[in-house]
Amino acid sequence: MSGTLNRIAAGFRDGGLARDLAARIARAADGLPPMRFMEVCGSHTMAVARYGLRGLLPETVRLVSGPGCPVCVTPESYLDHAVALAADAGATVATFGDMVRVPGSVRSLEAAAAEGARVRVVFSPLEALELARSEAPRQVVFLGIGFETTAPSTAALLAEARRDGVANLSVLAGHKTMPAAMRALAAAPDLNLDGFLCPAHVTTIIGLEPYRFLAGEFGKPCVVAGFEPVDVLLGVLRLVEQVREGRAAVENAYPRVARPGGNPRARRLMAGAFVPVESVWRGLGAIPGSGLGLNDTYSEFDAASRFSVSLPEPRPHPGCRCGDVMRGALEPAECRLFGAACRPERPLGPCMVSHEGACAAAYRYGGIAA
Ligand code: SF4
Repeated sequence: MSGTLNRIAAGFRDGGLARDLAARIARAADGLPPMRFMEVCGSHTMAVARYGLRGLLPETVRLVSGPGCPVCVTPESYLDHAVALAADAGATVATFGDMVRVPGSVRSLEAAAAEGARVRVVFSPLEALELARSEAPRQVVFLGIGFETTAPSTAALLAEARRDGVANLSVLAGHKTMPAAMRALAAAPDLNLDGFLCPAHVTTIIGLEPYRFLAGEFGKPCVVAGFEPVDVLLGVLRLVEQVREGRAAVENAYPRVARPGGNPRARRLMAGAFVPVESVWRGLGAIPGSGLGLNDTYSEFDAASRFSVSLPEPRPHPGCRCGDVMRGALEPAECRLFGAACRPERPLGPCMVSHEGACAAAYRYGGIAA
């Protein structure tokens, strides 16, 4: 089975096919004014950098990275809250690995752990439940971050904790939903985006419908694309073709995984645990309805209510331009700290921490010596 999957994956990395698609993109773009498309997903950012796809595109077709890295869009205020829960409230903070090294206003979770705070890396929300059971009665806080892809698992965690009466577990709610952020990006006059390469993982949950307003209201072509080189190039080709034909529509170039209706069961799980709330995105600011807060059913599991901690004034590193990088207004290499003061082993901003961060991808695959 894995051999079959590998053969299929190899097909989507076929160099000849990729070059053929690049040539078709060049022909479709010929004579058109310059175009800027945003790849919204962090996995796209990684694929584009890893396979050198920008180098295959004509000069008039530019791909810019968007707010698709969940760790990167999580603001300092959330990190500060997590650090305070571990360092001041004495809770065990359970989180995915990338979050540990992201600098907060004062320090990272990693630095807090070095000073004695309890921080545990987990690979799934349900591991946090096991941790809570094994550490009871000590309080365990799970950091609920990420997009529609991870929110259903946090909802499942909450349901299980409630069913089993796990009273020492709570969640610091920080999940975000992508369409509201894409609305903010489409409406930003300075970004001049001509379309979106839509996030495929998110689409497997929400389906195609939530992107329709981007085409209808803003006239932005949208194409859902997968993560192999051929997938990405096919997505770009479909975008350029829409521009050439003067139309804007939502197309699915990843039908082998993304279904038009998404995953209704996962959406039901989310709807049973969360309500839309305003959420602060690094780089985009506060966006109404773009976050997921715990609903009344799960309010007792809300770490923000359970613990009272004082928080510092949110303060990003003064030279870090992650916000601009994530809204497609700046290339990573245009940050004056890139590759000098800021490197993966000593990151000054989240975009250099996460493996899906645009700065980390540019550093790793952009030919910069480690
Ligand atoms: Fe921030 Fe470092 Fe990226 Fe500059 S290179 S934007 S400091 S993460």
